[in-house]
Formats: sequence, structure tokens, C-alpha cells
Amino acid sequence: MTIHLKQPNQILAQASPLPVPVTVAPGDGIGPEIMQASLKVLLAAGANIALEPIEIGKAVYLAGETSGIPANAWDSLRRTRIFYKGPVTTPQGGGYKSLNVTVRKALGLLANVRPCVAHAPAIATRHPDMDVVIVRENEEDLYAGIEHRQTDEVYQCLKLISRPGCERIVRYAFDYARAHGRKKVTCFTKDNIMKLTDGLFHRVFDEIAADYPDIASDHMIVDIGAARLADTPHAFDVIVMPNLYGDILSDVAAQITGSVGLAPSANIGEHCAMFEAIHGSAPDIAGQDIANPSGLLLAGVMMLLHIGQHKVAEKVHNAWLATIEAGIHTADIFRPGHSAQKVGTAAFAEAVIARLGQTPKVLTPASYATHAQAVTVWPAQKRKKALKELIGIDVFIHADAPVAELADALKTVENGLFELTMITNRGIKVWPGGLPETFCTDHWRCRFMAREGKQFNRAMVVELLRHLTQQGLDFIKTEQLYTFDGVPGFSLGQGQ
Ligand code: NAD
Repeated sequence: MTIHLKQPNQILAQASPLPVPVTVAPGDGIGPEIMQASLKVLLAAGANIALEPIEIGKAVYLAGETSGIPANAWDSLRRTRIFYKGPVTTPQGGGYKSLNVTVRKALGLLANVRPCVAHAPAIATRHPDMDVVIVRENEEDLYAGIEHRQTDEVYQCLKLISRPGCERIVRYAFDYARAHGRKKVTCFTKDNIMKLTDGLFHRVFDEIAADYPDIASDHMIVDIGAARLADTPHAFDVIVMPNLYGDILSDVAAQITGSVGLAPSANIGEHCAMFEAIHGSAPDIAGQDIANPSGLLLAGVMMLLHIGQHKVAEKVHNAWLATIEAGIHTADIFRPGHSAQKVGTAAFAEAVIARLGQTPKVLTPASYATHAQAVTVWPAQKRKKALKELIGIDVFIHADAPVAELADALKTVENGLFELTMITNRGIKVWPGGLPETFCTDHWRCRFMAREGKQFNRAMVVELLRHLTQQGLDFIKTEQLYTFDGVPGFSLGQGQ
């Protein structure tokens, strides 16, 4: 079933000739240069937008706001629900949080859509037929940013994947494919290793693919998928993937179209949307008027389509195509003997403005007159709760002792109800059994399960931890082991 609802902002744009309010932030590094260039083109083309400037990024961080965005900026974002954003520098250390991650999560921008398209022969690339859209999950995975140092030697980062998160991003990818006349959606995961988290993403992909018989679907392990994407990108159409893989592989995909400076991105949520280039603030070339503004400008085209200004979007896109086709190139895509003229950021924008109203002769012109309907962002679905049963516990212990000594100490806390069943070190089972060659750190996972015929319960957890404390064992975290409708909700050790 497909419902093509309009986004709230599109309704606004079509019902009213008033300019559509857009929150805008130039960002850091090359941000102000490429934002000025992009806005100049959009406004010259007749974009009917009213800009609400906000300040974000380095200056805000250094003023003591660790999120990089001042409290009053949220008022503008929640009012306009459209954000046109330049790249931001996240200062290293100092507890500074990534502004991008904060904005994406706070505004519920679950889908990050990154078209990576070759423009041969205008822009030199080894992959002239490449036309890939990466749909990156935008809110979950390792980007939860929940990290801990647990022992002298070991640090951890939590990878969180939810069923509603998977369902919404995968459905978005299929709806996007359908709305844009795309033929295939491929899923990349690493579920041969991460059977529960990436396994869920893959399983949900297979479930939802069945609802779209008109769209082909397949799955690849992300390592071979990445290799094929770099080698034969024309074999792909739409690719949906968890956050981290999507972040990395969209840079790869953009770079092999000619430059990371070319690719735009749309961050789409149920209520708000944010448009930006995929690249960062490029401090190495900031202030030199040499950055390519194309990624941000094309993000502006995506924004105009989102707010229903299709004609202006088409005009800007075609003028941009005509400019690159004329060989007017910024330094990142300039090739002597191939390009006609090397220009800076501002001159590139002027060249695009001079071509407003033109269409490219060799490259395929953009045509948005019959542009696809807006893609629905589905609300999270509620599901029937599973029967959840506690059957054991993993206790993580910081200890420098050899495993045999640790096991002996842990065996003393066993009782008639629960027993120690396994110790692993960095995921490798080292007790019972284990090889002397295995390198062990000071971080041990110790699994206790109910004895045969006994039922594990919360009181046992308290009892166990009390005994461990009495033994002087430094437990640093626990993970309860549950079954859900009888299916284990935890990974097994080798041989279990
Ligand atoms: P980057 O994307 O800024 O730069 C990588 C390389 O690509 C550099 O050599 C740069 O000169 C080049 N490049 C990038 N954009 C270009 C353009 N438009 N034209 C020509 N060349 C371009 O990545 P980085 O150096 O790893 O990161 C710099 C900063 O940007 C970091 O603080 C990082 O956290 C931040 N960042 C922000 C965003 C964002 O705001 N969305 C995204 C990625 C990185």
C-alpha cells in the first residue's frame, strides 16, 4: 500500500504565494563562501523563500554551547521546518557534540538521501554511467554517541538499532524508489557478524521488500557491496544502509563521480527537513574562494523540490548542468585539456546565474515538471509486545588476573539456582576451554545462567552482584539475557 501524502511544507508552498520561510546557517570553513554563492543562484532564479539566518558551529561551540547550536535557533527551526545548512566544524575534544547528529536527531530527520550522479563527459570520472542514490539511516547505529571507558584497556561504543528505525528507513527507500521511477533497492549490512543489530535491518528489509513487488531488491554484505560500489557503481540504483556505512560510502560514491564537492543531501523527517552538502567544512581550503559550491547548490535544488517550487528547481539545475558542460569548473574537478576554465567559488556562481534559462546540450536536462510526489515519511508503527523472559545475565568484570583465577573466584558466587557458564574476552570464549595463544585484555564478559530446571529472576541479579562485591570483583556493567517469545535476544558464545 502506498499513500502519497504531501509534506506539510509543500502544502504551505502551494496554497500561498508568500515566500516560504527557510532557516539558513552558513556554517564554518568554506561554509560562508559556498552558502553565499548558492543563495545568490537560488534567489537569482526566483526561489520564493524568506531566509531566517541563525548562527551555528564553531563560534557557538567556543562560546560555551557544547551542542554548537544556540537555544533560540530551535525556535526558528521549529517554525520554518526547513533548514538550509552549511558545513560545520566540530572542535576536537572538550565534550563538543556533533551539531549535525544533534540536529538530525532532535528534529527526527530519519532519512538522509544522497544522490551521487556522474556527469560525463562534462566532469571527468572513471564511472560515466553512475547514478546511485544512497539512503542512509540518520538517527541510530553507533551515532547514538553512547561511549564509555570501562577498564584500563577497553572502551566501548553502543550500536543501537531499533525495529521502528529500520522499518521507517527501509520503507522510505522503497517509497523513494517508486516515486522517482527507480528500479532496484539494495541493502548493505554486516549481518554475518552483527546478527542481532544488522540482522534486524536485513530482516526488516526483506519483510518490506515483499510489499514492493514492482521494485527489485537484493542484499549484500557491506564489504563486498562497498567494493562493487567503488568498482561498478552503475550496477546500483538505490542503496539503503545503516548510519555508519551510509556516511562512509556516500563520500566514496560522491568522490568517484568526480569530487566530494558535488554531492547534495536531504535529511528528511516527518515534520522537518534539512538540506546540505555531504562534505564537511574543508578548513584546508577555507577563505580562498576555491571551494566547489555545487553540493550545497544542488541541496538547494532538493530543497526547492521539497517545498514545491519545481520550476525554479529545474531552472537552477539546468543552469548548473549547462555551466559544468561548458567546462567551467572549480579546482576540484578542473582537468587541464578537459575543462575550459578554472574558476573560484563566486565566479562559478556567476557563471550559473548567467546560464539561468538555458538547458544542457549533451548532458540530460533536469525535468521536474512531472516530478514525483513527495515521499511519505511513515510514523513509527506500534507492535504487539513480545513475551520477555529473563534467563540469565552477562556481568562485565575489570580484572588483571588470568582467566582460570577469575573463573575460580566467580565459581564461589554460584548457588543452587544459577551457575557460571562462560567467560569471553573481546567476544572470544576463553573459559571453559580456550587457547593459550589468545590475547586477553582486562575486560571479561562472564555469563551466569539459571541451573537446569530453575528460573532466573531479578532477585538473583541483586544476589549475584552482592556476592561479587563481597569477593572484591570489579563489575563494570551488566546485560540481562532475555528471550522474546522464546527466541534468545543475545548473541551466543562459540560452541554454545
Ligand atoms: P571535508 O569534507 O571537509 O574535506 C575533505 C576533503 O575534501 C578536503 O581535502 C577538502 O578540501 C575537500 N573538499 C570538501 N568539500 C569541498 C568542496 N566543496 N570543494 C572542494 N573541495 C572540497 O572533511 P574533513 O576535512 O574530514 O572535515 C572537516 C570538518 O568538517 C570536520 O570538523 C568535520 O567534523 C566536519 N564535517 C562536517 C560535516 C557537516 O557539517 N555536514 C560533514 C562532514 C564533516
